[in-house]
Amino acid sequence: MSGLEQSVQYLKGVGEKRAQDLASLGIETIGDLLGYYPFRYEDIQERSIEEIGDQEKVTLKGVVVAPPVVSRFGYKKSMLKFRMMQEHAVFNVSFFNQPYLKDKVELGEELAVYGKWDAKKKAMTGMKILGSGQQGEFAPIYHVSQKVKQKTLVPLIRQAFEDFGNEIEENLPLSLQEKYRLLDRRQAMYAMHFPVNPEQHHQAKRRVVFEEFFLFQMKIQGLKQQEKAANNGLAIAYDNESLKRFIATLPFELTTAQKRVTNEICSDMKSPQHMQRLLQGDVGSGKTVVAAIVLFAAVTAGFQGALMVPTEILAQQHMESLNGLFDPLEVRTALLTGSTSTKERKALLAELAAGEIDIVVGTHALIQEGVDFSNLGLVITDEQHRFGVNQRRVLREKGWRPDVLFMTATPIPRTLAITAYGEMDVSVIDELPAGRIPIETRWVRPSQLDSVLDWSRRELKAGHQMYVICPLIEESEMLDVKNATEVYEHLQNFFAPEGYGVGLLHGRMKNVEKDAIMEEFKDGKTRILVSTTVIEVGVNVPNATVMLIIDADRFGLAQLHQLRGRVGRGADASYCILVAEPKNEYGQERMKIMTETNNGFLLSEKDLELRGPGEVFGFRQSGLPQFVAGDLVADANILEVAREEAAAVWQMKNWQQLPEYQGLAKAVTAPDKQFFD
Ligand code: ADP
Ligand code: MG
Repeated sequence: MSGLEQSVQYLKGVGEKRAQDLASLGIETIGDLLGYYPFRYEDIQERSIEEIGDQEKVTLKGVVVAPPVVSRFGYKKSMLKFRMMQEHAVFNVSFFNQPYLKDKVELGEELAVYGKWDAKKKAMTGMKILGSGQQGEFAPIYHVSQKVKQKTLVPLIRQAFEDFGNEIEENLPLSLQEKYRLLDRRQAMYAMHFPVNPEQHHQAKRRVVFEEFFLFQMKIQGLKQQEKAANNGLAIAYDNESLKRFIATLPFELTTAQKRVTNEICSDMKSPQHMQRLLQGDVGSGKTVVAAIVLFAAVTAGFQGALMVPTEILAQQHMESLNGLFDPLEVRTALLTGSTSTKERKALLAELAAGEIDIVVGTHALIQEGVDFSNLGLVITDEQHRFGVNQRRVLREKGWRPDVLFMTATPIPRTLAITAYGEMDVSVIDELPAGRIPIETRWVRPSQLDSVLDWSRRELKAGHQMYVICPLIEESEMLDVKNATEVYEHLQNFFAPEGYGVGLLHGRMKNVEKDAIMEEFKDGKTRILVSTTVIEVGVNVPNATVMLIIDADRFGLAQLHQLRGRVGRGADASYCILVAEPKNEYGQERMKIMTETNNGFLLSEKDLELRGPGEVFGFRQSGLPQFVAGDLVADANILEVAREEAAAVWQMKNWQQLPEYQGLAKAVTAPDKQFFD
């Protein structure tokens, strides 16, 4: 065992108690301690008193021009005072309750003091004496606890470096260190804690971040290769002629992008490798038809297919679209959701197990106990980020490692995709079907709501329909319903003269109620649908041309973009109206960018920048690894380079045997508590 894997108790002065305290910070081994980096640094470079702001913390250097005097007052209280001169300016320095510092201050000597500057009094409240002639330093600040204070931690880290620093091994090949001019590992780790200046810290950080991203990429790319090499998936030998005939029956020509991704998926299916592919396509890019084609491909090879979606409404809608597309074919389909009756369900499960159903569409009901397939070959999940990792796994385990396709309309910025989905192959539909009129987006203030509603009469009069979205308030479903209900009543009154039907849909309704409301809207019986975000994913009502979003600043850009994608699905011009009074400039910027672009990828890049990775996925269970030093946004360039370099290493067949790569091989195979649990 290397010294670094030993308990911190091997350090002098660390007993059981202190080891426990350190463990509460996640520090168990000496290696953990060395890798426990400061979260920021206090820059105490020496400064000239001319340029210091009031109450600023700085280091000042000067000559002591009046001898130190200690005055005592009260019980155990004291004040140490002296005067210093910098250039020609003289200032007072005082330290509270540290009388012993007097010995460090000598008349006529040069001294550097760190403290808080009072610009009015031209005086400093001292915090630290840096000694005569000593350079100011760049002091590390750690996340600490009640039990482990900065002043305990710092000497421990120093000691750990002294006693065990020489056991830190390099894990990057020399060629990479040279190519990117990276500090060696030991230097970098030391300088992360004790940089002499900001530049050295910058270099240390660059090295540490690169290492972190690079090792992560080495690992996920390694897993992917293993998976591929194992050839333990299904080889789905579909019938190409049937597929071509099916495609010829479609009411439109596939876009070039649709053709490309269909080919990518089909060739994965044909190969014995286990498919794990992510299909990304902006709203309206036509993912459903691609799903239909590849599901049908599985059927021609004698396999069953499953399409899993997050809501009942979506399941129904997908079932309808698929049935429409499969009309000319002999494909046996079925719908399985929570509201399927017990009797129906029983019959359906028997048919599914007997292989009498080819394609099943459903919600979570698909992965419940008792659902068995005869020969499951392909699983597609739509809007996959709505499914937990475990749910996907359960479904997969119902067959013999069926091929899996994850479809999502949430454009995932590249940096996130290569991190969160690094183990998957990615296909992107980066083109919309021809002839779509871009949606026009406007941002208005709440006070303008009625004039916007007035304007919308024009669309409604022309026979079109309108969505009105009220935001889901996470903390309170009740409040949610209240908001939506108020808006609903306002709209009913507003459009009373015309007598347009208004529907209300919210999360507290039973599924059957929701379905009924949705059905009425689809059939045009209601012209306006007020809803919380339940319609966010997937619904298709091409006659709707207005999307009005109340309190739009409560949504992320990705979500707003999804909502906007509910209109503009037909041949008519469509509009998205954002009603918002953002409190800060971020909110304002988000509203503004929505009006400027219809490009989902650009918006999600922006969202990532403004709100951080967790938010981009809508739900916080983002499945992203936690990085210690690296930041997916700020260090995106490094991530990209690390990914390329990792790929280049795996390109070399026997890299693990090369002398230069021994350190790396060890690091890549080491168990890792950081990324994967
Ligand atoms: P999404 O990718 O958002 O799921 P859909 O699959 O619902 O998109 O497709 C959106 C609309 O575009 C549907 O009405 C669909 O019939 C239509 N569509 C899909 N592909 C094409 C195409 N190649 N040409 C014209 N219309 C298409
Ligand atoms: Mg869809």
